[in-house]
Amino acid sequence: MTTTVSALDVYSAYPHSDLIDIVPPVRGMSAKQFLKTIDQGLFGDTLFLFILREVADMDGEREEVVRALCRARDDLTAVIEASKDQPFICPRCGSPLDGQGHCIAAVCSYEG
Ligand SMILES: [Zn+2]
Repeated sequence: MTTTVSALDVYSAYPHSDLIDIVPPVRGMSAKQFLKTIDQGLFGDTLFLFILREVADMDGEREEVVRALCRARDDLTAVIEASKDQPFICPRCGSPLDGQGHCIAAVCSYEG
């Protein structure tokens, strides 16, 4: 395994990359070189573009790429987890909700 991540490595690993409307990178092409072949302003798959830009920013340096993408994954996970959270306050009576999103007030029947 080489010490750099190429554009083809990213393209090959990215799920459903064959559905992206681009000419695939050739073997040995860096992310920086590949980005020059893409109209980034019109490019539809922004996650793929983000990954390519991260790899290009790190000059494909494998360890740095892995570190940067893990950081991005952790940031994404934090946003996903925060998005899953139930509201903490009952919208009907203002009492706290339990872990299932049910109101804890005995007189309120709100169930999330
Ligand atoms: Zn309530």
